[in-house]
Formats: sequence, C-alpha cells, structure tokens
Amino acid sequence: MKWISDLVDLIFPRHCAVCGEVLSREERDICLNCLCTLPKIEPHHKEEIEKTFWGKVEIERATSFMYYRKGSPYNALIHKLKYRNAPPIGVRLGAMAADDILESGYFNDITLIVPLPLSKKKLRKRGYNQCDYIASGISEKTGIPVATGLIKRTKANETQTHKTRDERWENVEGIFTVIKPEELEKQHILLVDDILTTGATLCSCANAIKSSCDCKVSILTLALTYNGI
Ligand SMILES: [Zn+2]
Repeated sequence: MKWISDLVDLIFPRHCAVCGEVLSREERDICLNCLCTLPKIEPHHKEEIEKTFWGKVEIERATSFMYYRKGSPYNALIHKLKYRNAPPIGVRLGAMAADDILESGYFNDITLIVPLPLSKKKLRKRGYNQCDYIASGISEKTGIPVATGLIKRTKANETQTHKTRDERWENVEGIFTVIKPEELEKQHILLVDDILTTGATLCSCANAIKSSCDCKVSILTLALTYNGI
C-alpha cells in the first residue's frame, strides 16, 4: 500500500533525527546523507576504550559505536533518546552498533545482555530506561537475550557534570546491588550503556556483578565522549 504510506508521509512528514530534513519513504530515523557521515569510532580509538577499565575492574572486552563530540549535530541522536521522550531511536542505534561489530566476533561467547539500570527516581521521572532500548536493538541483531530487573541502582548519582574525575569515581561507589545473582552465574554478560565518559558508573556496576557471582563481563556503549584530547 505505497499510496497510503506516501499519504501519511505527506500529512505527517518524518524528519531526520540529526539534520531535521524531511525523510523520504525509504529512509528511517536518519537520512542517507547523515548516515553516510555518522561519526563511527576509529579503530585506533577503539583500542583505547578497554584501557579505561584497566586496573579498575576485570572485563573481557569493551567497545563503543560513535563519538559524542561537543557541538556535533549527531549528539541530537543521544539527546532524543535520553531527554526528548523518543526511545525507539535507541533500538535503531543499538542495532546499528551491533551490526558494525557483528563480524568481528565481538558477541561470540556473550550469553546475556544487561542494560545498565536507572535509579527508581530517575526511571519515574523519565518514564523509561534508554539503555533497555539500546539493548533491545543489539538483541534484535544478535539473538542474545536481554535481562532486566537483576540489578538495582540504589542511588541516583545523576549530576556528574560538574564533578572532578576523582569525585566522579567516589560518587558512584556501591550504587548497584545485584538482586538475582543466580541468574548471572556462569554467564558472559554484555553491560550496555548510552555514553562512556570516565567509565566510573559502568565500573561500579561491573564490580557489583563480579563480586556477586562467577561470571564474565563485557561492555558496549552507544557513544564515547571524545574531545580530541
Ligand atoms: Zn539528516
């Protein structure tokens, strides 16, 4: 029913989440132009990502999909996902991130995808956990199941922005509690978050998991804060 979708597009034009241009019938969420220049993380920076966690928590692998750079129009994707009540974009981005590394064997022995939980307070305020959507996109591509409700975030720690590097690390210590360790036992868990900045929150969660059961942990974030330093 091409004419129906054409008519719907005419009455309710869909716009690119990055540049705002009207999307054609074939395009979904992001226009072809913006897709072509998506700021994917370069291989030499990917190698640096794992170093973020060295000496802090034992993980198998860590990677991220795209840059989150100051002033980049692509940040609109993350803002939409987190603050503008448009979580479905997370599924698309999660699937794109998974697609990008699927052939590298990144997911080979991973058995469970776990989205980083939000605090109860934050979840109530936002109405959804954006990481659940990213996880669902990854699951769509890989067939690996998603598990939620196994870990609880007991403290909000939401305003990290004005804190120094050290303060950020102290701020997130012990904020996660594993409530169903038996379901994580012997699994290789892929912990999923939206943006990797200092890695403090992810480390805190991975540490809580590792100290509650015998399992492996890997990490995937949608974006990496990178300012060219
Ligand atoms: Zn665009």
